[in-house]
Amino acid sequence: MKKILVTGALGQIGSELTGMLRRIYGEDKVIATDLREPEGDFGPFEVVDVTNGEQLYDVAKKHKVDSVMHLAALLSAKAEAFPKMAWDINMGGLLNALETAKELDLKFFTPSSIGAFGPSTPRDQTPQDTLQRPTTMYGVNKVSGELLCDYYHSRFGVDTRGVRFPGLISYVAPPGGGTTDYAVEIYYEAIRKGAYESYISKGTYMDMMYMPDALNAIVKLMEANPNKLVHRNAFNIAAISAAPEDFAKAIKKHMPDFKMSYSVDPIRQSIADSWPNSISADAAAAEWGFEAKYDIDRMTTDMLSKVRKKIN
Ligand code: NAD
Repeated sequence: MKKILVTGALGQIGSELTGMLRRIYGEDKVIATDLREPEGDFGPFEVVDVTNGEQLYDVAKKHKVDSVMHLAALLSAKAEAFPKMAWDINMGGLLNALETAKELDLKFFTPSSIGAFGPSTPRDQTPQDTLQRPTTMYGVNKVSGELLCDYYHSRFGVDTRGVRFPGLISYVAPPGGGTTDYAVEIYYEAIRKGAYESYISKGTYMDMMYMPDALNAIVKLMEANPNKLVHRNAFNIAAISAAPEDFAKAIKKHMPDFKMSYSVDPIRQSIADSWPNSISADAAAAEWGFEAKYDIDRMTTDMLSKVRKKIN
């Protein structure tokens, strides 16, 4: 990759990914784009609505990029609230980004999600290739997107690559309306109030990952030797399988008085119940050397110290 366009660059992943890519490839080699203007100086930036294919194509062409990282999307909880809008942004935006990649011969990355699985998927150590019958609009979008990326590779030769992200945890940008957002909020509330009321019930396991592992995975996959890739899109990647009480336990090691309570949100709980408990990242490890460095304790130590500094 020499020059990269990022869509949805002001979101939870994009705001950190853009900074990391600029450190690796150079400040002017990363064109950040989003629906709205950034606050303050964000480096090279263009407003792009991904549902406008012409606008996306024109900006990619103008900056002579050779790669696109397509992050713009509506996340799981928001997509359930606005299903039609989710289809338009998640599928329409993806199709426009793939068309731009096809026309301009760009390398292409887009993330899928553990939301691409459903209640009939094996729940523990979910394999790379398995049953995918999701019951949420977000999940329907993500499975369709995985297939569309495979199609653009096999039919048009576009160099598409992607991962299925678990819930991502970070202290930099706030999460954008996903089901695993509690795993970020809990650290802020621990520092602010010493207590957290979880909208996900005790015993609900989901996969999570600390943002540095997620960002490293993106770059490693994009730089991987294509001859070694058996899969291309939607690689399972995993680091932490945890339920709300596991976060509470990890926080209590630093803050023994931390209190956890529960007030379950039925919509987000039903989304969580349809997702796996833990997924297997064996294919990603074998094909491009994926590995995660942060477990829940190491992540908790870092999150608590970074959130404390941010708030105080
Ligand atoms: P986010 O909600 O934080 O950010 C999405 C960004 O897209 C926002 O800045 C928003 O302004 C922008 N956007 C929305 N509609 C747009 C449009 N029409 N045109 C241009 N920009 C638009 O999301 P995120 O957490 O950064 O997620 C990025 C990608 O990663 C998504 O595909 C998401 O499904 C996937 N993902 C995220 C997680 C997670 O835990 N964050 C987990 C799995 C997969």
